[in-house]
Amino acid sequence: MIPFVRDIRFEYGQVDQVSPLIRRVVADNPGPFTYTGTGTYIVGRGRTAVIDPGPALDAHLAAILAATRGETISHIFVTHSHLDHSPLARPLAEATGATIYGCALGAGGPEDGPPMEAGDDDGFVPDVSVCAGARIDGPGWTIEAIPTPGHTSNHVCYALLEENALFSGDHIMGWSTTVISPPDGDMGAYYDSLDRVQARGFATLWPTHGPPVTEVSPFIDAYRAHRRDRERQIREQLAAGRTRIKDMVPAMYAAVDPRLHPAAARSVLAHMLHMVRAGEVQAAGEPGLDSDYRLA
Ligand SMILES: [Zn+2]
Repeated sequence: MIPFVRDIRFEYGQVDQVSPLIRRVVADNPGPFTYTGTGTYIVGRGRTAVIDPGPALDAHLAAILAATRGETISHIFVTHSHLDHSPLARPLAEATGATIYGCALGAGGPEDGPPMEAGDDDGFVPDVSVCAGARIDGPGWTIEAIPTPGHTSNHVCYALLEENALFSGDHIMGWSTTVISPPDGDMGAYYDSLDRVQARGFATLWPTHGPPVTEVSPFIDAYRAHRRDRERQIREQLAAGRTRIKDMVPAMYAAVDPRLHPAAARSVLAHMLHMVRAGEVQAAGEPGLDSDYRLA
């Protein structure tokens, strides 16, 4: 069982000091993928950095500007180009003169298939690419960009070194597991990124949605075990003669909101591709959502 944390207190548009160096403003975009909405973080005082400006909502832009009145936003860090994270980066940069850091989606392009989460922000291009990692110093704060592909190929987490904390985006969330949607989402890369974050021994994770995770290492252990358990369930389904993903999902995700079943099918596909690559499972033809699979 994953020890989910879901208790979050806030008011939309209001800024809260959530740690010595971190403030948070939550955007009014709640939903099945965003929980209570996008949590935009403001780091430092005076000359500040913003993590994940969020969706293109005028009220949220106004709230971020109001929260930093009399201060400067010099840096904008974007975890990935989903519509609930990155679209406000350019308007906020235009309003403040800030520089945008992040990783543009590569040649693989946006994922195909049904719309995921709030969808892709196809136009996202940072001013400074941190796809390979980077360290950025501000007054009283130091941010390290840590590439964490998996949820998307361009996902980057940002460590706040002064607090041994990590802005974990959608890579690790306290309220829910994350969606891995092929072809851009990649389960093998996701496992590697979980290992990389866990090895750093962060004291706190600040996901873009929901409250912080403070028991970090056990939480990541449970997150990983949950994924391994999904693979065990897939092997069971295959052994029981269910060869198609659409026939497995209702059984495997009986406890999950049916609105999320199309997303769950893509997570099963992500596992399946990982298991095909590992030689555990074989697909008839090109492995996809509608393929027939069997145990190798
Ligand atoms: Zn996302």
